[in-house]
Amino acid sequence: MIPAAPLPMQPRRWQQAWREAVRDPRELLALLGLQDAALAVSEEAAVQFALRVPRGFVARMRHGDPHDPLLRQVLPLDAELRAAPGFGLDAVGDGAAKAGHGVIHKYAGRALLVATGSCAVNCRYCFRRHFPYAEETAAAGGWRAALAVIAGDPTIEEVLLSGGDPLSLATSKLAELTDALRSIPHVRRLRIHTRLPIVLPERVDDELCAWLAALPWPVAIVVHANHANEFDASVDAAMRALRDAGAVLLNQAVLLRGVNDTVDALAALAERGFAAGVLPYYLHQLDRVAGAAHFEVDDATALALHAALVARQSGYLVPRLVREVAGDASKRAVLPTGDGRITPSMA
Ligand code: SF4
Repeated sequence: MIPAAPLPMQPRRWQQAWREAVRDPRELLALLGLQDAALAVSEEAAVQFALRVPRGFVARMRHGDPHDPLLRQVLPLDAELRAAPGFGLDAVGDGAAKAGHGVIHKYAGRALLVATGSCAVNCRYCFRRHFPYAEETAAAGGWRAALAVIAGDPTIEEVLLSGGDPLSLATSKLAELTDALRSIPHVRRLRIHTRLPIVLPERVDDELCAWLAALPWPVAIVVHANHANEFDASVDAAMRALRDAGAVLLNQAVLLRGVNDTVDALAALAERGFAAGVLPYYLHQLDRVAGAAHFEVDDATALALHAALVARQSGYLVPRLVREVAGDASKRAVLPTGDGRITPSMA
């Protein structure tokens, strides 16, 4: 009897969607019915940091709107090429906090693993857009360096998976890490920072949820959504599946000029996220990375926006306004200075 030929491996649905991402700025504009002349789109910026955006995320952008807040997060513009004082390649001091290959140890009790350099979407404001991923990913080499750092430091109770986007790794690769972490008794919590459930909700499949549900630690998943329009029914379903798998869902947004720098936008983000089961966690001032200066919102405006949110929303729907300062022992709260007054008209 002739053995049946093995079936070719079928890519999983999320991997297929990943491969079909839009990578050409002209195609993106054509899909949205836009002309690049009005937008100052830059091919050079796209060479320095490629455009990449899943088609499902493009479908949530408003057709014909050059100011769409989701489009602005991913479109390479001329403004990225302008040098800005104070904006550099390593905005948050990752290099100085390196504790091992792909391991960053800044804050007490926590170790952050730069798990991979891959992302489903390339966010123009990304603070790691210049990170040397080719040399520094924790998953390389079977996570050996990361596991050695964590095992060797009994103060590390929480392991953070970051990147790039850690959920861009195959679930089996994630399981390789967590299987090894089980034998390190001082590890008590796992935190995953990921934008994939927002931009490519297909990633939240049965295999991922089964892995999450079987983990022995409480798990926090910090999704990174910046605007209410990033949520739709497919994202709601992904959030539900993650919660059903036992994860606590939090959102960390970046305050971005032209994207979410109004009280209405921030309130809508908190309310829409909560409707999907996600609590606001941080509202970050922009990390001052080269190429992202055009997204910056000044502190006075940020404080006024935050004060207006406090006045308008239930406390649990107000994220903490923070910034990361290289060398600090924790995120730094953004607070009023001088006489402490802020300008209500900014709200
Ligand atoms: S998903 Fe996160 S790590 Fe990836 S490009 Fe966007 S901000 Fe950067």
